[in-house]
Amino acid sequence: MPCELEHSAAVAPAFVINRTKNNSIQTVSSIQSNAGPAPYHAAVREIPAFSDNYIWMLDNGDGSACVVDPGDAGPVQSALTSSGLALAAILITHHHFDHVGGLARLKESWGCQVYGPHNPGIAGIDHALEDGDRVRIGRFDFEVIAVPGHTLDHIAFYAADEEPPLLFCGDTMFAAGCGRLFEGTAQQMHRSLGRLAELPAETGVYCAHEYTLANLEFALAADPENRSLRERRDRERARRDAGTPTVPSTVGLELETNPFLRSGEPSVVAGLQRSGRLASATDPVTAFAALRAWKDQF
Ligand code: ZN
Ligand code: FE
Repeated sequence: MPCELEHSAAVAPAFVINRTKNNSIQTVSSIQSNAGPAPYHAAVREIPAFSDNYIWMLDNGDGSACVVDPGDAGPVQSALTSSGLALAAILITHHHFDHVGGLARLKESWGCQVYGPHNPGIAGIDHALEDGDRVRIGRFDFEVIAVPGHTLDHIAFYAADEEPPLLFCGDTMFAAGCGRLFEGTAQQMHRSLGRLAELPAETGVYCAHEYTLANLEFALAADPENRSLRERRDRERARRDAGTPTVPSTVGLELETNPFLRSGEPSVVAGLQRSGRLASATDPVTAFAALRAWKDQF
């Protein structure tokens, strides 16, 4: 698609990776944007894919966009066409097919840069990222947070300077839930979620699946006395009935209602004990592991 390639080349923003661990700054490529001084408008929208995935599209404000976890190229191409944006970059959180399946086709169409985990198993990554790296895409400045647990290569992208701050966390933290432990340990996942939970309460949590209602049913079983949880269930049900996504959430709401961020809370521990999944009061990681195992069978 020559017109897409032309468009892409014309508006590609500057890309910088700033590796904070050793304080050195590496400029990966620097192509001048010709977008001019138009006032910037932050914009993130969801692109539904498969049965319950969300691919997130960020409007860079200069005629270009980046997408997070394009598991399927078709819906992304349609969204780009309808919005008139050129794809400048792809962000990948982990190697699962529903997050990388559209990568090759989009890269071929747009010649865009691909940022993702340091995992040679993912074909097409141009910039392999580690914990603490910074990625600048257009006006967005992301910090990379390693969040192993669902997979070992899982990373999250956090933009602290946005209002509100943005977190793209793939399959690590879901609205009222968390990803399954396919590769990592409960300890790793507990720590990863703990790092995300420390972000500002107003941070938007952009996870990759619409699992919220099922997660809330489990959350109510695990934490039945939590009044915020019941209110949230009613609110999210109404959203789904209206055909509206329940994502993004916020870190503050997750702290109140996500049992996987609350595995040390007395009410959640009591729920685990009542259901016979925890013998006695114990450390939060053991409680987290019991909670995750319960959800696997719920
Ligand atoms: Zn996954
Ligand atoms: Fe997924």
